[in-house]
Amino acid sequence: MTVTTAKDALKKYFGYDSFRPMQEEIIDGIYNKQDALVLMPTGGGKSICFQIPAVTMEGVCIVVSPLISLMKDQVEGLRANGVNAAFLNSSLSSAEQSEVENDLFNGNIKLLYVSPEKLVSQSFFPLLQQANINLFAIDEAHCISSWGHDFRPEYKKLAFLKQQFPNIPLIALTATADKVTRKDIVKQLALDSPKVFIDSFDRPNISLTVRPGQKKFEQILDFIDKHPDQAGIIYCLSRKNTEDVASKLRGKRINATSYHAGLDPLVRSKVQEDFIKDEVQVVCATIAFGMGIDKSNVRWVIHYNLPKNMESYYQEIGRAGRDGTKADTLLFYSFRDVMVLREIIQNNRSENEAIQLSKLERIQQYADSLICRRKILLNYFGENLENNCGNCDVCKNPPQHFNGTVIAQKALSAVARCGERVGIRMLIDILRGSQRREILENRYDKIKTYGMGADISAYDWQHLIAQLINLGLLEIAYDQRNVLKLTPQSKEILFDGKAVQMVRMTDIKQRQEADKSKIKKKSVKERVRDELFEVLRKLRREIAQKSGIPPYLVFSDASLEEMAATRPLSEFDFSMISGVGEKKLKQYGKIFMGAILDFVSEKSGEGVQMEGATQLATFQLYNRGFSPEQIAMERGIAEQTVYDHLVKMYAKGQGVDIKRFVKTAEIKQVVEVIASIEPPYKLKEIFDALDGKFPYHKIRFSLAYYYKKS
Ligand code: ADP
Ligand code: ZN
Repeated sequence: MTVTTAKDALKKYFGYDSFRPMQEEIIDGIYNKQDALVLMPTGGGKSICFQIPAVTMEGVCIVVSPLISLMKDQVEGLRANGVNAAFLNSSLSSAEQSEVENDLFNGNIKLLYVSPEKLVSQSFFPLLQQANINLFAIDEAHCISSWGHDFRPEYKKLAFLKQQFPNIPLIALTATADKVTRKDIVKQLALDSPKVFIDSFDRPNISLTVRPGQKKFEQILDFIDKHPDQAGIIYCLSRKNTEDVASKLRGKRINATSYHAGLDPLVRSKVQEDFIKDEVQVVCATIAFGMGIDKSNVRWVIHYNLPKNMESYYQEIGRAGRDGTKADTLLFYSFRDVMVLREIIQNNRSENEAIQLSKLERIQQYADSLICRRKILLNYFGENLENNCGNCDVCKNPPQHFNGTVIAQKALSAVARCGERVGIRMLIDILRGSQRREILENRYDKIKTYGMGADISAYDWQHLIAQLINLGLLEIAYDQRNVLKLTPQSKEILFDGKAVQMVRMTDIKQRQEADKSKIKKKSVKERVRDELFEVLRKLRREIAQKSGIPPYLVFSDASLEEMAATRPLSEFDFSMISGVGEKKLKQYGKIFMGAILDFVSEKSGEGVQMEGATQLATFQLYNRGFSPEQIAMERGIAEQTVYDHLVKMYAKGQGVDIKRFVKTAEIKQVVEVIASIEPPYKLKEIFDALDGKFPYHKIRFSLAYYYKKS
């Protein structure tokens, strides 16, 4: 088996032109019967690594997958691409099971997905022995390790595979495995000197933004407004939050629903299904949501609350943009959340409380960061990003510093004068000169800094105090009802006049404004592209509804985007779109090209400048059976122009039947003339050489024919 075979299969079945860097190496290893351990981030393209060997080698590939819903999804996806695949798990009736088993026995399946329970069952073993297996693929391989976070006891039994089938290569794949888990996977599966592939965990298509957690609902509305009709998830800490946010969104006519572990299982699976099928746009969920979902076109993720650590955060935002196209994430950050999370951790009284608290601190540092966020994120996972990413809020709007010494002094001095007994909210109220009863009762209105910060809004103060905390100038005493304490450094500011550099709050506001203006400034071309994308998306949804599969299995967002940008109208051009393989070209090519054609002619009818539109309008009439003369009449253009359009469409590979306009014998004559003269060929020269007997359009068709053939 060669890499060329693999590449051909990649185009034929999946419609992709090239492998991603690591895929090719991995596949090559499998062809050489080597075991492998593959670590790639979600969306990195793990599946291709075993699917291509499976379809190119003799026999069947057995894929072990822990989640029933994912199995179904993968199998549907493969079938949509014309690959014979099936799954076996407890969700099938026994009749269905034996049908699949028969197919396996008869060698009619290229990929068989099985649950670990099924694979290790006594009854299945004889079948395994008889089947012509070319590869074992263990997906979500971290489930085998009790060190990992999704330990599944049945995975442990998979060790028998290498004992029973020592000569069949085995590939273990996962998106999450630290060093310990990695070792454990290799050991437990008894892999035979496996090659270990570790891909970068960076997901550059996912934008990262952190905003202060204030006026969250307003911000969410604004965000969704910028992501019209795009599927997204809002992760909330509490069940109640999920329901509240969803119902408020519905109040704003946004198609939203909620999901949490307290809901009836039937309701939950309905929510999942609706989300997968683009029937609901927004799911407000607790972290219970997402595990069994492979939806590739989740376009955004919002964290309504701070996640408890970087691992969860990365896993959750990782559900966005699996198709590799642009996806946006937004994290709301507030000290309130930090306090709530600390309480949860402390109430759990788990033995690794200290670790959990320090993990919480790490994500706080991330949220507070004034340097490229992706750097911090990847650094946390042991990777170094050389340059700033350019796709996080800090990179897009680098913060400007100003001398914040006076502001810091006001705040710190207020903390000191209140005897370090007040929390953030109280401190702000004191600085702003509030008349709250508690303030008067405690005589905080008598201190020197009372009301000295009234010129700064409460919102801005929140942010400024957060900075002081991050700078190590204030500390939150979590064990003393979250009051603020001074630190050794703060004393330098207060008493030694040391200067403090801070970031202006207005910068953060400007960032949001800048975001808005960026959205507004779309060119006509971009607007047209987006409009066509919408048209194609609707079409995709209709097709998906009819055939009962999720829309993203018809075409990914990435494919639709490419179609909207390049507007393919010939089979050839359509087949060049990434994600269009043979089966999809046949099955959907005509209907999608039809929609593109309609769109283009409608737009140009409206007077929008569209490249190639006038040719298309001509071509459309031609397809309806109009003669060139009739087309010229209908469109109010010269007949010569009509011919010009048809020649161009023909040259592009469109279905123009040139025999209608020029006879084969005539073409031959023209070609003879061409052969006798030097390029560049001038129409007039050919016309004269043929004694003016051939009308120009015949010459042009012949020329086009000639170019095509040579
Ligand atoms: P993972 O299992 O690692 O999360 P998938 O196998 O689901 O990732 O792949 C993620 C997305 O990338 C899918 O939409 C897949 O079709 C696409 N993809 C995989 N390999 C390639 C490739 N070589 N070229 C283009 N797209 C690819
Ligand atoms: Zn960045």
